[in-house]
Amino acid sequence: MLAKLKLVISFAVVTVGIAYAARAQDLGPGFHKIKDGIYTFAPDQLTTTCSFVVTEAGVVMIDACNSPLDSRRMADAIKKVTDKPIMFLIDTETHSDHTGNHFIFSPPATVINAQGAADGMKKEYNPKRAETLAAKSPEMRQALKGEKMIPPHIEYKDRMTINLGERTFKLIYLKNAHSFADTAVWMPRTGTVRVIGSQCAHVYQFTPNGGVTGCHRQL
Ligand SMILES: [Zn+2]
Repeated sequence: MLAKLKLVISFAVVTVGIAYAARAQDLGPGFHKIKDGIYTFAPDQLTTTCSFVVTEAGVVMIDACNSPLDSRRMADAIKKVTDKPIMFLIDTETHSDHTGNHFIFSPPATVINAQGAADGMKKEYNPKRAETLAAKSPEMRQALKGEKMIPPHIEYKDRMTINLGERTFKLIYLKNAHSFADTAVWMPRTGTVRVIGSQCAHVYQFTPNGGVTGCHRQL
């Protein structure tokens, strides 16, 4: 399932934002506050991350988390930070550690990735994924309730801009970077995006200090 090239996307630099009541440490282990309203969830050093950004008009998630248990933790964390709904879920690639748990967030989230993502997900789909995961623990079985594959509702070509509340998200298609369809997400008003195709594991999309560790050298 995992190709050699990995994607690491990070936000960097400044933001002026609204102060949200919840602190990252209130959200549970593995949650990091990058900037006001921008959080990432890295369960451990080896697990694929997922992130969420709060706006005045709702939440944007980036990737759907590695396991259904992680996704449930993410959903709980978002509820602690805001009562606004998840409006969009942007995938940065098609593999199941990013896309297999769409069902936990959508509805209400509209899922977005680049052209070719749905075809890619269908090609890579493992019909035994839920069964295999469910065998791990009763908690995992419970977290899988309602499991089904949800391909992106929207596939864009080359570029897409989402304006939600006070924030802007620029989606940039990355050709042949890692999976059948890969997206970098850039928030121009809050910082820059760095996109790194490397052989390092896609552990961090955001890091707590807004940078990327350990991956640059492998470019
Ligand atoms: Zn991948």
